[in-house]
Amino acid sequence: MPRAPRPAPALAAIGETPLTALPGCGPRVAEKLAARGLQSLQDLWLQLPRQYEDRTRLTPIAALQPGVPAQVEGRVEAVDRGFRYRPMLRVALDDGSRGTLVLRFFHFRAAQVAQFRPGVRVRCYGTPRPGQHGLEIVHPSYRIIGEADDALGDSLDPVYPAIEGIGPATLRRLIGLALDRLPEVEALELLPERLRSELRLPTLREALLTVHRPPPGADLPALLAGTHPAQRRLALEELLAHHLSLRRQRIAQQTHAAVVLRDTTLAARLRESLPFALTGAQQRVFAEIRGDLGRPSPMLRLVQGDVGSGKTVVAAMAAVMAVAAGRQAALMAPTELLAEQHLANLRGWLQPLGVNVAWLAGKVTGRARAKVLETVAAGEAQVVVGTHALMQEGVVFRDLALAIVDEQHRFGVHQRLALRDKGAGVLADGERERIHVVPHQLVMTATPIPRTLAMAAYADLDVSAIDELPPGRTPVQTVALGAERRPELVERIRMACAEGRQAYWVCTLIDDSDEVVAQAAQTTYEELGRQLPGLRVGLVHGRMKAADKQATMLAFKCGEIDLLVATTVIEVGVDVPNASLMIIENAERLGLAQLHQLRGRVGRGSAASRCVLLYQSPLSQLARQRLETMRETNDGFVIAEKDLELRGPGELLGTRQTGLVAFRVADLVRDADLLPRVQQLAERLLAEAPDTAERIVARWVGGAARYASA
Ligand code: ADP
Ligand code: MG
Repeated sequence: MPRAPRPAPALAAIGETPLTALPGCGPRVAEKLAARGLQSLQDLWLQLPRQYEDRTRLTPIAALQPGVPAQVEGRVEAVDRGFRYRPMLRVALDDGSRGTLVLRFFHFRAAQVAQFRPGVRVRCYGTPRPGQHGLEIVHPSYRIIGEADDALGDSLDPVYPAIEGIGPATLRRLIGLALDRLPEVEALELLPERLRSELRLPTLREALLTVHRPPPGADLPALLAGTHPAQRRLALEELLAHHLSLRRQRIAQQTHAAVVLRDTTLAARLRESLPFALTGAQQRVFAEIRGDLGRPSPMLRLVQGDVGSGKTVVAAMAAVMAVAAGRQAALMAPTELLAEQHLANLRGWLQPLGVNVAWLAGKVTGRARAKVLETVAAGEAQVVVGTHALMQEGVVFRDLALAIVDEQHRFGVHQRLALRDKGAGVLADGERERIHVVPHQLVMTATPIPRTLAMAAYADLDVSAIDELPPGRTPVQTVALGAERRPELVERIRMACAEGRQAYWVCTLIDDSDEVVAQAAQTTYEELGRQLPGLRVGLVHGRMKAADKQATMLAFKCGEIDLLVATTVIEVGVDVPNASLMIIENAERLGLAQLHQLRGRVGRGSAASRCVLLYQSPLSQLARQRLETMRETNDGFVIAEKDLELRGPGELLGTRQTGLVAFRVADLVRDADLLPRVQQLAERLLAEAPDTAERIVARWVGGAARYASA
């Protein structure tokens, strides 16, 4: 392959110049930038706009669309300063187009309030959403304008991701200064010329300048949609960088050794002792895991399985493979609630087989903790179940051969690796040779990813799917109802509970501050308590003490609570088979993945279950499609495909979801056609030009070096 031209070292070094070389970037500012991984000029070049604001035109208020950002100009009609859960300022604007727009502020200063005198002209920019009185924009960026001063901009304004402690204007200025020092093409270019001309993509230099400073006359709609050749060019290189880093990680992993686990006697005994037969999908996935464990290199496998597909028992069977070989397994879950549930399940299954299951969570402290740590270090604890606490310093395993991470989208890759590192060690192999061994890794997720994406997102993992539910489950029936039908639901809950069933009431709000949601849950809890006097109503939300939350969940699980009012804290993994009714308030505000996760809390027993999605009108087109999808299918993989189609993987595959570093410019759906090229190119670079590969990774993924080099 034609090699990218090698830069002269002096020029290449420009990119590495520390940011303190820029005027106005003192040590304090540099420190704040560094906290976000921005240390050199190159990092600022690649700090790409998150979006653009089109201030080249005004939209009449009557023509505003919910969810579509726009610039509006109008006169202040009325101002209302109120207090609901916290201080609030509302300003109504009128532009003569017969529409109403409310600007809403939760944080504001007295000087701001004083600005908004009736009749004053305000120009603002933001995303309108349905509010109580027509559309509203929460915290718009705005400017009071004088009568003469009304020129509109002539190009798109880049909006950069916010950086704590640095104002947007300063950030824009620093990025501008960094761009002024962009070297000539030869010093920057890492992609082969032939590829660029074949795909008709600009050079890196040209692409960066276009994206940061769209010239007048640039294709604005393409830039706003992220399909401009400049963006495609950057996306290609970014996708390549991520792919290379995942491939490298995988290759590095495979140079490590792992303990061969072949003894299946305990797994077979466990399987025979279960009160149910494994589904075909569970058997197949376990066979894949068994194949991996039998090899002397570490397993790196992701098991995708819809909520309720029975991943835990498969994990338990893998764990006892380690135990049968005289070694240890660890199972880590993202919340204490989930971890406790795993503990109960694993103890129930494994203790009768004589396997010692230990428990380690944050609330295990003092002498109890010391005692657990002792058994873990001595190897008496054969299977250790817990939360993040498992990764803390001071937790030393005697011989960890298998690390299992549940609901992996809740953990970053770093955390996954931290658990793996607990088992890393050096095995003396004979007299001279010492080999580095790492545990096998099994990660599980109930957030299915469409096949097309799995390849890109998990290039470092093998992927298995438990794509079948245990028999005897009745699919959850889902209905969508306007919020005005809420009173009927009270009756429905009364009836379900009269039959000995239990119900969830899930509160969500657009404002994702814990405090406001907790407050709303509290209000709903009191209200429902009054309306359903015969029922035992419980409440869990994120602001409660962990112990109180646990106690309430446990009471619900034991049937001591009929109706559980909750925020989305109950989302992951909670298993209460007797619960057969779920009501989700403001369902239009949640994404498909989250709705599906929530709904997965019901339909876990044999009774027919229902899920009611309460929504506020008017529904945006997107929300309507989401609710429709929820009504039509219960299949997590279908929902994932739809989710992808509706909103794109930027959100679907955020840092939290995959453990991938979030993309700066690439979008796996929009740029999907680039993926096959990326894969080919990556293999070729790794084989033929490893130093170029290295530089591409360093350029884009450099900040996550721990990940890239692990
Ligand atoms: P998830 O994949 O969502 O983690 P779980 O492992 O919590 O699902 O399993 C959900 C429920 O199904 C549990 O109560 C579990 O014991 C039960 N289960 C698992 N496998 C089977 C099976 N093959 N047949 C019947 N029930 C099963
Ligand atoms: Mg689970």
